[in-house]
Amino acid sequence: MKTPSKVRRAANAALEKECLEILARSGVPSNLAYQPLFLKLAAHSLGKLPRRRIRTFEIRTTKISWALHTNNGWIGCHKIALECAHCYACDIDSFWYGGRNWGIDAERHRTSPATWAKALKWELDALQRGQSQNVFCMSMGDVFEERAELDAWRKDLFFLIESCPHLNWLLLTKRSQLITRMVPPSWLMQWPKHVVAGVSAGHESTLWQIANLLEVPAGMRFVSVEPLLSPIDLSPYLSQREEDGSPKTKFVMCGGESGRGARPTHIDWVRKVRDQCLKYGVAFHYKQHGCWIHESQVPGAGLTRLPSSAKSVHTWPDGTKSYRVNVKLAGHKLDGVEYQAVVPTRYFAADSALQTEGGVA
Ligand code: SF4
Repeated sequence: MKTPSKVRRAANAALEKECLEILARSGVPSNLAYQPLFLKLAAHSLGKLPRRRIRTFEIRTTKISWALHTNNGWIGCHKIALECAHCYACDIDSFWYGGRNWGIDAERHRTSPATWAKALKWELDALQRGQSQNVFCMSMGDVFEERAELDAWRKDLFFLIESCPHLNWLLLTKRSQLITRMVPPSWLMQWPKHVVAGVSAGHESTLWQIANLLEVPAGMRFVSVEPLLSPIDLSPYLSQREEDGSPKTKFVMCGGESGRGARPTHIDWVRKVRDQCLKYGVAFHYKQHGCWIHESQVPGAGLTRLPSSAKSVHTWPDGTKSYRVNVKLAGHKLDGVEYQAVVPTRYFAADSALQTEGGVA
């Protein structure tokens, strides 16, 4: 006689077989198809959810203020812009992998299936809670780096992105000229609503990236001016409008540089960016002062005086000074105000199939 657990195992095995057949028919890459979470999503779309433990509370997996998670399908990149000089990802790669994934001649490292599957967990969390979660796609590389071995991985990544429509995927690149060439052709016809396109342009010499971004037919675009390394005029870009009158660029993320060798940012450059955003109705996010705090920001940052740990001083041509301090002490208030706009959360009906007593099935 079959015990209840044997019956349940047999039912789950049959369901798994059914899901695998569906996934195979729909052309899912084989290295992703066998992820148990993909099976769970497939089962969910069949209306047959295997009983499994799921989280009921939102989990933040990154300290980056404008995202809840970071997703890295692979690790590695090479420096191409002024802003890359002190790339934190490159430093992390040196620390953890001896620098073997960085540079033009280095190989790229595809992350484990478990790392890829994390997005599926977040997708299930989002479904369960009925609200989207922001994912920074590729904090340890650049989605649009041009290399032969990345073509297949990128295809898998775009498939993963399409499979997780309840997450907001923020694709940030310094290779904006390649976006339209590398995304799936179907995106150019109908850009997925949950994919947010962004470029880095923290110096006047890299503002051309924004012009490319505006050619991308994304529903939502953002610009990161972090680290901000020179005064920049975003007006020609922020002033551009969609047919409905809304700004073509929806968000600007700004910040000073942190980490080894960080370069100072003059606070007036930041104020100028904030004011341009306010003028054109573009949401503004100020992430951090970074390792350097301008003397005018010391009270605003919650410091009543410069900490004794201020290690060095940078004197600007206008006679004002910035001090090198701990990045946490420097904080993220600009003239005493927090600017924390992020890609808005989308709300949808929480999935009752995923709701269980106490959140655990
Ligand atoms: S493009 Fe991004 S990940 Fe690549 S080196 Fe530059 S800062 Fe680092």
